Amino acid sequence: MTDSIYFAPLLPWQQALWTQLTSRVLSPPHNLPHALLAAGMQGMGKRAFVWRLIAWLLCQERQQYPLGACGQCQSCQWLRSGTHPSLQVLPITSMPISTESQENNQAVSNNKKTKTNTKSVKATNVAALTVKVDDIRALQPFIYQGGQGMRICVLDHAEKMTIAAANALLKTLEEPQAQVHLFLISDVPAKLLPTIKSRVQQLPLQGVEPAIANDYVAQELGNTINREVVSSIQITQLLQLANGAPLAAIELAKATWYSKRALWLTTWQALRSGKRSSIAASDYWQAEVDLPDFLKLTELMLIDVRRVCLGLDSSQKDIALLAALEKYQPTDNALETLLSQLRQTKTALQQNVQEKFAYDKLMQDLAYL
Ligand SMILES: [Zn+2]
Repeated sequence: MTDSIYFAPLLPWQQALWTQLTSRVLSPPHNLPHALLAAGMQGMGKRAFVWRLIAWLLCQERQQYPLGACGQCQSCQWLRSGTHPSLQVLPITSMPISTESQENNQAVSNNKKTKTNTKSVKATNVAALTVKVDDIRALQPFIYQGGQGMRICVLDHAEKMTIAAANALLKTLEEPQAQVHLFLISDVPAKLLPTIKSRVQQLPLQGVEPAIANDYVAQELGNTINREVVSSIQITQLLQLANGAPLAAIELAKATWYSKRALWLTTWQALRSGKRSSIAASDYWQAEVDLPDFLKLTELMLIDVRRVCLGLDSSQKDIALLAALEKYQPTDNALETLLSQLRQTKTALQQNVQEKFAYDKLMQDLAYL
């Protein structure tokens, strides 16, 4: 994520919401609800919307630029450098600034995690993340300082708050401060305390018209991946696999592991027939994709295998899944067991599990599926 998320074009399915919220600010009541929640599954553009809106709210020229922050004024420059005095972000790793400016920046480097590469922090730490009561308390001086101008607090991965942190936040929600706005972001809103949810206004950011999603994905992929033409059937499939979330569909299309689905099928068949040993398959795949990606690939494949075994259509039309299952179908029990093992391995990955060991074990399980 770079600073451009503040100034990126508005996603087409968010236009109505943008107009609605910005006109509330530009004309009576001249304000937004005190606390807003952007919640729901990943890939719908929640964060894109929130950061863009925040940049606009803070922009000194917003009257002249109703469609998005100007990108030039002092406020916009502060955002770019990650030094905006009117913006506080929890956890600090969610601040959309480049790794370089994070490292060089005194104002935001009060957390040692910022020294790590942003990408790896995102990839490995979100699951292990906790927002503690002290983190929430540390926001209080900023929230209650008074003074001129709008101040904004962002609480990303809000479901990661401990109970004590959530209770501390509740107090803040119950005492709205003039000019202070809280933005909560959550991919798993079901894990948020109901008392928190009842005190924030949820932004309707879920649900994209299939036609709009289709057009957007087609346009963003430029109709090609690796110089191959992406057909409308493939786009429909990507969106289906991504539960209709356009950004997730695009990410999927670009993921290396997604391009290896046919290869996975070949490996599985070779393992089953004994033409290939699980150790050889494990060594081969370790060089192809890392374990977290192989887990995603295997999960997607097993879910689809299960669909076919249950007599449903395969969600993948571009690989020969049906043919592979013509002669042999694993039992539903075996599939369920392996799928739950995959989920356990995913969790274990956060505790420094040995990649090679987990890979070997998984190949063995696939051989006997
Ligand atoms: Zn500006």
